[in-house]
Amino acid sequence: QGYYTRGGGIGESGDFVTSPEISQIFGELIGIWCISEWIAMGKPKVFQLVELGPGRGTLTDDILRVFNQLASLLSKCDVSIHLVEVSPKLGETQALMLTGGKVQSNPEDKSAYMQGVTKTGIPIFWYRDIQDVPAGYSFYLAHEFFDALPIHKFQRTEKGWREVLVDIDPEVPDQLRFVLSPSSTPATENFIQARRDHVEVCPEAGVIIQRLACRIEKDGGAALVADYGHDGTKTDTFRGFRNHKPHDVLKAPGTADLTADVDFSYLRKMTQGKTATLGPIKQREFLKNMGIDLRLQVLLQNSHDTETREQLLHSYDMLMNPEKMGDCFNFFALLPHQRFPHLDKKHKPELKSPVSPVAGFGELLLK
Ligand code: SAH
Repeated sequence: QGYYTRGGGIGESGDFVTSPEISQIFGELIGIWCISEWIAMGKPKVFQLVELGPGRGTLTDDILRVFNQLASLLSKCDVSIHLVEVSPKLGETQALMLTGGKVQSNPEDKSAYMQGVTKTGIPIFWYRDIQDVPAGYSFYLAHEFFDALPIHKFQRTEKGWREVLVDIDPEVPDQLRFVLSPSSTPATENFIQARRDHVEVCPEAGVIIQRLACRIEKDGGAALVADYGHDGTKTDTFRGFRNHKPHDVLKAPGTADLTADVDFSYLRKMTQGKTATLGPIKQREFLKNMGIDLRLQVLLQNSHDTETREQLLHSYDMLMNPEKMGDCFNFFALLPHQRFPHLDKKHKPELKSPVSPVAGFGELLLK
């Protein structure tokens, strides 16, 4: 009965709107990022594009358009698309957007529960778990994915760490409430690493990052994570949205988007040094480094009506304005250590940062 398994409320008519839904430029620049990394790695003959939690499928759709435009560059490369999606309803929406509905469902014993061919002629597969995606050189994308995964909340008390739990309110019918565990719990024993008084930990995100790091270390590729979040500094970020308005997380469970900021310092830690990490860097800086201004100019020049031009400018402002999505969204990447041959593994962050060889990341914020 989960929120996403029943469809999730992405888009203007729903509960929240995301960057790929706001502007086509967003996905296009991420497509360019993948191509740029693929070239930097010597154009491997095979690559997989893997998206975690693709929502309505818009990001992959915009990336596919870029791949199609660069078809001659990619002509000798065997490209395939792999989507990790738990929601059957959103899986259907993605299939319609990306293949025009030309998909087949697979029997239970197959790892991919659905497969087809994209409108641009590329094989595409759906899975419930990252573990099911075949090994191989891959670009992993996670846009507003990690913030949707469940967290544990903890509070420090005089008696030690306690877990914040959800309980049925004994006094009010049909009402939930937060309580503190009376003693320590398995989660307080295992997940606490902080000196702060309140913390949120998302162990599922840690497990997925570990898997991505292992895959990238072994088979090459990269992971690009974009989400709102912090670098280990925030404490209480768990919140709900319904109809684009804040919503009490305990009210009408399953009907609102529940989310918590991504702790990038935790993700970095969970790579266990298997890969290098870049960022987090603010969305407006990443997109600027990727050439969003130039792309906007081209689209403005090619559009002849005022309405389209206004729409382009408005969506640019939504993505880039520090008061809107420009500052609170961050980009973070996992890359193989071989991508930085001039640095050894023990390299400490530089005092004077050189320019990163990885598109979008500007200064080398390598950790
Ligand atoms: N990336 C999209 C959608 C973000 S919403 C965008 O930016 O527009 C989160 C997405 O993750 C939804 O597609 C949801 O169904 C999916 N999701 C949530 N939990 C998941 C899990 N445990 N495994 C795989 N997908 C999950």
